[in-house]
Amino acid sequence: MSPPYMDVHFQLSTQLIAWALGFYALFLQGTVVRCVRANDRDAGLGWWLGGALCVGTGFWAQALLNLVALQLPIRVGFVAPVVMAAWMPAVVISAAAIWMQTRTHFPQRLRLVGGLLVALGLCLLTFIHASAIMFQPGVSWDVWRLAGALLLTLAGCLLGSLAIRRSLVAEPPWWRRGLLVLGISALFNAGQVCMAWAMQVPTGAVCLSVEHLAGEGWVLVLCGAVLMLMIMGHLSMRLDARARRRQQALVDSLKEAQAALDVAAQHDPLTGLLNRVGFERMLHQGFESPSSPAVGPLCVMRLHVDGVRTLTETYGHAHSDQLMRHLALRLQAAMRGGDVLAHAESDEFLMLSRGLSDEHELAQLAQRLSAAVHEPCLIEGNELTVSASIGIARYPESFNARLLLAHASDAMLTARKAGGGVYCFHRNGEEQVGVDQVALQRDLRHAIARDELMLHFQPKLCAGNGELSGVEALLRWQHPVRGLVSPATFIPVAERFGLIGELGLWVLDAACRQMRLWHEAGVDVPVAVNLSAHQLRQPDLAQRVREVLLRHRVPPAMLILEITESVAMDDIEASMRMFDQLDDIGVQLSIDDFGTGYSSLSYLRRLPARQLKIDRSFIGDLESSADAQAIVEAVVRLAHALGLKVVGEGVETLEQAAILTRLQCDELQGYLFARPMPAHALLVWLGQRGAVITSPLPQHGDVDAQAGDGLTEGEVLTTWSDLGMAPLLRHIGR
Ligand code: C2E
Ligand code: MG
Ligand code: MG
Repeated sequence: MSPPYMDVHFQLSTQLIAWALGFYALFLQGTVVRCVRANDRDAGLGWWLGGALCVGTGFWAQALLNLVALQLPIRVGFVAPVVMAAWMPAVVISAAAIWMQTRTHFPQRLRLVGGLLVALGLCLLTFIHASAIMFQPGVSWDVWRLAGALLLTLAGCLLGSLAIRRSLVAEPPWWRRGLLVLGISALFNAGQVCMAWAMQVPTGAVCLSVEHLAGEGWVLVLCGAVLMLMIMGHLSMRLDARARRRQQALVDSLKEAQAALDVAAQHDPLTGLLNRVGFERMLHQGFESPSSPAVGPLCVMRLHVDGVRTLTETYGHAHSDQLMRHLALRLQAAMRGGDVLAHAESDEFLMLSRGLSDEHELAQLAQRLSAAVHEPCLIEGNELTVSASIGIARYPESFNARLLLAHASDAMLTARKAGGGVYCFHRNGEEQVGVDQVALQRDLRHAIARDELMLHFQPKLCAGNGELSGVEALLRWQHPVRGLVSPATFIPVAERFGLIGELGLWVLDAACRQMRLWHEAGVDVPVAVNLSAHQLRQPDLAQRVREVLLRHRVPPAMLILEITESVAMDDIEASMRMFDQLDDIGVQLSIDDFGTGYSSLSYLRRLPARQLKIDRSFIGDLESSADAQAIVEAVVRLAHALGLKVVGEGVETLEQAAILTRLQCDELQGYLFARPMPAHALLVWLGQRGAVITSPLPQHGDVDAQAGDGLTEGEVLTTWSDLGMAPLLRHIGR
């Protein structure tokens, strides 16, 4: 009995050609995907459709060739329209596969479903091709072999989608890509061979389409045509990629040129620093960017180099250019890390400094810059000396870039109008009084040289017995036109224009000189000197105080330094450091105007102060307000608990003095006893009272500690010049 189905075998060479076509089609698919991804939407659409056409044709031909490879005992032929009908699904399948590959965010589950559909579609291709051979009777299909074919194709699709997923993370090297494509196309090919194998032709069947596409000639033509199509598609994509690379290179070099132009437009060729445009842009961007570095304290300083114009007229531009280069280097050395310097105009610099909120720290920075500019410059044998007028505007007072720049310029102009060589802070709302302040400041700068400054002294008395316990030195300015100017008027001006440092040193020196003179006249009285916030933040304050004390041979314990509560508490850590240094010298420290700030008790405890002066606003209310009495009583108790003496200042009536004495206040100061008076008047005042002057040293119980070097109390009192100098001398290593 003959077998029910015809024997089949396959032509290996045709199968290999089919595989090669499939391999190339898959390889091409990868190129199409890259091309679609790299192009914009419209061009990408064109490449997608064109690519799907080439790739789909390749798969279509592969499926057809695998059927052509099937060898039967009878001659067969393919009905052309049916063969052509398989072409469209092949293109659609490829289009779908390419589309999935171009999506970067495609859910993995959908990718798997897509893979299954593509596998079914590929099997369908062979099925359509098979139906182009018309057998009589018709063929039957082996289900197991069909399932095998589907599984092989599906395995190829799964491998493909896995490869896509991996390639999204990192593009694999070319050889791994090649191996993958080889593997997937082998699986597809095997699937198609299995499919052809599943077709069972009944023994004795005849092929009705034998007259249609038969033989090998048309297969060769078809393979050639398909290959040509794919090669053309491939070449156009390579050309496109090359054109894109060139275009990208052009865009990159244009960007580089633009960036170089931008840099040049924002930098000053002379100094290499930012120019005004660059600085302003940087400042504006700082405020506009969401992660703005403008958040937090910052300041803009505008620095005008005074006298450059005259130098240029005298020595020429080359000299002033060299000078500006020198100054730029010096300023960079003087500024803090992170600060930005710009050369704004021919004789102006701009500086942005971040992180300093304290006016006194800013003043120190301005002084450093000023000193850097003021140092003489040797240029081609000529020693040039210039000075700087600096305007300072701060954020958040000047709350945007435009205001910072405008206010720094205003303040710089004020500094220049003031005669130059000073710095000036912009203060909101002070524009109207600017002219008066400028005039006052100009006069104040000459006040020391013209001997217009003087100290007045106001006595402080022991509350218990009315004896003199010390005096407070209060600065006075005898202005030639304005008369006696109050410190409340000129000290803020001195602070604003950077003169307070010099003024403060003058006061310290004058107070110590006076102490020595009084001592020589037989009067030993401790003197309290007020320190400004600026002085307290000067790192070399302790050193200066030491020098003054030594110069006038005054025992440190005779000097009391008063610091207002608000200043002491402003930057408590910095205050504590300075208080410790001053305490080490042996001078006494006093917290002035207590009650006006918001002291934390724990901080107060940590400050090595000896004295606390209750602000006169509380003393003024003592008679009328029970609250004021309660506050003063509480302050006295607290101060005593912390080992501090209490001074009530601004005592104007007997009633106030009585209340303060009852509340255990230690010392009293005020118009009731004496107004501030010149030094010679104080001696007269003392003479009138027939006062016995008690040295506070034994009273405060620190003579022995101060004397240190085994001096007895008696020796200390008789040898004033040695009194308490031991720690001081130890400090400076004598
Ligand atoms: P302060 O240190 O609290 O000085 C006390 C002020 O109260 C003095 O004003 C003094 O004349 C005034 N005063 C004293 N007793 C009475 C009184 O019974 N009634 C009234 N109404 N006032 C009284 P002055 O001399 O005008 O000084 C004002 C402030 O200027 C001082 O307050 C101090 O903070 C500052 N100051 C004075 N001299 C200097 C100085 O040399 N350096 C610094 N940095 N500041 C100084
Ligand atoms: Mg004071
Ligand atoms: Mg006071």
